[in-house]
Amino acid sequence: MLIDSHAHLTFAEYESDLGDVIKRSFASDTQIINASNNFKTSVMAVELAKKHEGMWALVGCHPDDIYLEKVDINKYRDLANSSEKVVGIGEVGLDFFRLKDGEKSIEAIKKDQVKYFKEFIGLSKELDLPLVLHCRGTKDDPYKAYDLMLEILSSKPIAQSPKPRGVIHCFGGNLEQAKKFIDLGFYIGFTGIVTFKNAKELQAIAKEIPLDKILIETDSPFLAPEPNRGKKNEPSYVKYVAQKIADLKEVRVIEVEKATYINTVKLFNL
Ligand SMILES: [Zn+2]
Repeated sequence: MLIDSHAHLTFAEYESDLGDVIKRSFASDTQIINASNNFKTSVMAVELAKKHEGMWALVGCHPDDIYLEKVDINKYRDLANSSEKVVGIGEVGLDFFRLKDGEKSIEAIKKDQVKYFKEFIGLSKELDLPLVLHCRGTKDDPYKAYDLMLEILSSKPIAQSPKPRGVIHCFGGNLEQAKKFIDLGFYIGFTGIVTFKNAKELQAIAKEIPLDKILIETDSPFLAPEPNRGKKNEPSYVKYVAQKIADLKEVRVIEVEKATYINTVKLFNL
């Protein structure tokens, strides 16, 4: 059994073929956790999960989307409490990538995003649901955002009991940062990027960190792994991520499948 720990089957890309995508996923023994990027997709993810055994939902607002809706944490709390199919808070975090000239300064963006990020961390602690973190730096400095995220997660009172826990999805930091997230109790999520030829640093990280700290994911519809790079992604392709990690670690793919499945079940209490 495999599990895609982070997909977006609520996105418009699946309007015409959602049923087939889900069928192919289950036919390849792949369960699915749907992540959400705003309140609307959070509601959709919960509804979809209710219809399918082997599918769960996250609720949360992506840092880029806090500007597109008036984030009301109480609505997210009510939604999270509305169904046992809600297994985590995400994706939430920091994203400094899309700042264009004329938009708010990076400092203003940081301030807004940190505020909502802290609210979602609070909700995760209150409801005892794991966090699914999104983190992306600027083009010039992909790592600074990860340092800021680590700083927030280690700061008081956030770091105090109950300690924040979860996964840093689609990890794009460096090895030292990956180890710090693990020390804080987080898992590291790998997408199809790890299969890309030029992703040498990420491959070295996947090789180095222990298998019992790794989750695999597709981030569908984006980031399709080799050999399907460039195509629309889907959960049944998560097996290619597992295969690549197995190759890097020189273990059998079944070991990666088993370990990442157990890690995911444990983290999200499935
Ligand atoms: Zn995502």
